Amino acid sequence: MTESMFDSEGRIRIPEQERAAAAPSESVIVNAAYCPAGHNLVSVDHEVCGYPGILLRFVSQAGEGLVVLSARLGDPGKAIVKGRIEPDELASLSCPECGTALDILGHCTCQPEAVQVLAYLYPKRDPYQAIAFCNSLTCDNSAVIRSGEAIKAHTGTPWQG
Ligand SMILES: [Zn+2]
Ligand SMILES: [Zn+2]
Repeated sequence: MTESMFDSEGRIRIPEQERAAAAPSESVIVNAAYCPAGHNLVSVDHEVCGYPGILLRFVSQAGEGLVVLSARLGDPGKAIVKGRIEPDELASLSCPECGTALDILGHCTCQPEAVQVLAYLYPKRDPYQAIAFCNSLTCDNSAVIRSGEAIKAHTGTPWQG
């Protein structure tokens, strides 16, 4: 069976094998994740699934709030610690310390306006040394993954800096 190299939206198909190889095979915990201004978002005061979580400020239609994401790669666990957000609502995510919006990696396929955002593993702003997640908190892609995998998935919309 021959399949087109491109999907219906003209993006290059990523072979299944490669995708499987890129998936996190074991539990990897992110112990630091930085905002564009270099603040560490991992909060020891906010645990999710037994580990310090990634604390983010969000703005939803209901106002401002705080959400904490599981720092385990691929784990969709999260908790709203302040404020309210509707399921499937798109949040604008920022650093709780300085309010800087997280950098956008690209569009997410779950909803027309959804985006995947980045948090950096080091204080310097390197998109390849980062984690990525969707701004729809109920999206399958809202679990934290390595940005390299997300960038690969965004073959049609590569990182432009
Ligand atoms: Zn900050
Ligand atoms: Zn999404």
